[in-house]
Amino acid sequence: MRSWQLIMLAALLYGQEDLRLEQVADPIPSAGEVVIQVATATTCGTDLKVWRRGGHAKMLRPPTLFGHEAAGRIMAVGEGVKNWQVGDRVVANNSASCTKCFFCQRQEYSLCPNLTWNNGTFAQYLKIPAPIVQQNLLPVPDELPDELAAMMEPLACVLHGVARSNVKHGDRVVVLGDGAIGLMFVAVLAHQSAEVLLFGGNQQRLQIGEKLGAAKTFNYRQLDDTPALVKDLTHGWGADVVIEATGVPAVWETAIACARPGATVNLFGGCPRDTTITVNTEQLHYSELTLKGVFHNTPEYVRAALSLLASRVIEFELLVSEHRPLQDLEQVFQDMKNRKVIKVAIAP
Ligand SMILES: [Zn+2]
Ligand SMILES: [Zn+2]
Repeated sequence: MRSWQLIMLAALLYGQEDLRLEQVADPIPSAGEVVIQVATATTCGTDLKVWRRGGHAKMLRPPTLFGHEAAGRIMAVGEGVKNWQVGDRVVANNSASCTKCFFCQRQEYSLCPNLTWNNGTFAQYLKIPAPIVQQNLLPVPDELPDELAAMMEPLACVLHGVARSNVKHGDRVVVLGDGAIGLMFVAVLAHQSAEVLLFGGNQQRLQIGEKLGAAKTFNYRQLDDTPALVKDLTHGWGADVVIEATGVPAVWETAIACARPGATVNLFGGCPRDTTITVNTEQLHYSELTLKGVFHNTPEYVRAALSLLASRVIEFELLVSEHRPLQDLEQVFQDMKNRKVIKVAIAP
């Protein structure tokens, strides 16, 4: 007998800026799956991007349940699920790899072409597919609030990005972008003793960047030449490491122009489909630049992210601008579009 509701309220994405709250059948777990009652779902810059573009190359295709960051309690377990029980507090990553392909065999899980994605956190109940239950479902420590646990997925992406950026102790790192991801980079890099210069377009977010450890912050709207300023601040050379966290092709080019000879440039923000950038061959070759793309996360970083959140050494709660009910979701997306809020904790 099922003791929970048979109909649930859920957000569905139908297309460009077309998000609707509907009554849908609540999910029933098949073999290997679990269903959680969502306690808190956090909004994400990726959600905003997908809502504005009306889809995503890899993650989803409308019409679809929507949202991918959430923590909650297990309400039902499918056949054959071991180690998990009804009532357990959990957080699930939004993907899991196939574990079998060419890339998975080489532990390059974020390159797996058969990733299982999960969407649907903006709802009362969320079904977790079997591969995610096996690889990326984790227990939430008692004292860790749901809204912080829900940030495991984006933080796992950021820890993956940091690990691949060749940052050394005391390096001067430029972060371009003051969204939640850019601010998470600031917090983690500053915590690892990098000197972080943050460039963004919103004064309030830049202040949060300072609270999270940025050595200096700059509003790019008040600058005519970001790379020239970076060079002024670095004895004329440029930054040791540059992190691009906007997903705008022109900013990718700015990121490369901010780099010193020998630097690593992490092009982290995913750009719209079929866009290109121009790279100066002379700079790339003679300055021995490393241009890195880093995508998504892996089970190792998912675990590292949850333990960093649980340690409470970084005030990630600064990234949650508001708490709102699921009914307000449309307005929340408008507020994100107008950059009034960073992340919003949604309670279904
Ligand atoms: Zn996210
Ligand atoms: Zn694979």
